[in-house]
Amino acid sequence: MKRVPVHLVDHPLVHDALVALRDKRTAPEHFRRAATRISVLLAAEALRDIPTADLTVETPLGPAPGRRVGPDVVVVPVLRAGLGMLDAVLELVPGARVGHIGLQRDELTAVASQYYSKLPARLDSSYVLVIDPMLATGGSAVAALDLLEHAGATTVRIVCIVAAPEGVALVERHHPNVAVYTPVVDSRLNDHKYIVPGLGDFGDRLYGTV
Ligand code: URA
Repeated sequence: MKRVPVHLVDHPLVHDALVALRDKRTAPEHFRRAATRISVLLAAEALRDIPTADLTVETPLGPAPGRRVGPDVVVVPVLRAGLGMLDAVLELVPGARVGHIGLQRDELTAVASQYYSKLPARLDSSYVLVIDPMLATGGSAVAALDLLEHAGATTVRIVCIVAAPEGVALVERHHPNVAVYTPVVDSRLNDHKYIVPGLGDFGDRLYGTV
């Protein structure tokens, strides 16, 4: 199967928000806002080629041609950190359906295990966006993608905020047809499987549970 490349999203505003997220002095309130800002831009890029249908709309002054997004969009945050990106995607696609996947990573082994999954029906013709801010080992991403494949999803993209080479490689190995959208691939993982330099624990910084 042909391998889908990583899409490095290089918009200046993406990098401006990323710096705020990386800065250890950024408090949860500002961290959440930067997470929303960056997620809007990343999701827009991940949906850049979504098909649209032509239509005509009546303005107060007459008919105007337009385009409306055709396919059903499904957003799947990987709990809990992925929730920090959800509102942003729903702002862009208010009619999207939302699935949730809860994966917990063992602090010692960094192996992801599923504790919750609730996905919408009829995923085969949907555009599915998995939102998982930190693509570290790739274990959670691959577990989420396995679940979605099992549920019948065929068009799946993963949107993250920082990726590690190990995570990208694992996704490519297990799901070569899934495109990864990220602003950056950092240098490595540390012994605790955190991305270096990364931004720390995304969920803790988002919710102030450090
Ligand atoms: N999860 C995080 O929140 N941060 C990392 O660096 C890796 C996984």
